Parts: sequence; structure tokens; C-alpha cells
Amino acid sequence: MEINLAELLRSHRLHITPIRLSVLTVFYKKNTCLSHEDIQRALQHRLDRVSVYRTLRIFVKKGILNCIPTSGNSNMYALHDFGSTDGQTVQHALFICERCGMVYPLKVADIRVTELPGNFTVKQFDIVMNGKCGDCS
Ligand SMILES: [Zn+2]
Repeated sequence: MEINLAELLRSHRLHITPIRLSVLTVFYKKNTCLSHEDIQRALQHRLDRVSVYRTLRIFVKKGILNCIPTSGNSNMYALHDFGSTDGQTVQHALFICERCGMVYPLKVADIRVTELPGNFTVKQFDIVMNGKCGDCS
């Protein structure tokens, strides 16, 4: 699927800057959940940490990315519709290996909260699993 990244930025009322285009390109190319460090590595550390961090914050605020907090005190980021099953509620499931620290995005379907107060609306629903990956078991 070809995505016009400039158009995507424009539709979220964001100015088009090289750093924004670079960060977005990484997400569309990798099509997975990424940490700040993953993005830095993908960009071969050509951009400074603070600028990348600021860009991620803006994307989260504008709803382009979702931020998924993990127990390791770090955040993972994913494109908003990554893992979406109904186009409305976004479900992200991550498996984090407690030994090597690798993060594996997993496909999930139909995990429901059976009781939600009537006037609540769910926009994002994250599942973070911790354990040992195949290599570390
Ligand atoms: Zn592992």
C-alpha cells in the first residue's frame, strides 16, 4: 500500500519537515511496534535524540501513533491503526522478553472487557506480556 506521507501530515495539520517524514517512513517500512532506540537505529543516528523524541510526542498527540508503555520503563510506538480489527478500537499486544529485552508484536483478535461503565469509550487497548522468548527459554 502506497501512502502519501506528506498528505498524512497535512491531514493532521502538521507542517511537513524532513524529520517527520523520516520517522513516518520508518514506521511504514517496518510495520511494527518500535522504540525510540529502534527508530534512532533505523535512521542510523542521523537525527538527534531530542528531535526524534519530540516528533514521536507530536505524532502521539495528533493520533498518528499510539504510545504503548511497557514495564521496562520504556515506551513502544505503533502506527495508530496497527493491530486494528474493526477500524475503531486499536488493540496492541506486545510480548517482551525479560531476558534479552526483545519486543514481539503479536496479533490478537477480540479481546473484550466484559464490563465497562456505560459512558466510557475505549480508544486504545494495550496488552503487554512479559516472559521468555524462544531463544531465552
Ligand atoms: Zn529473549
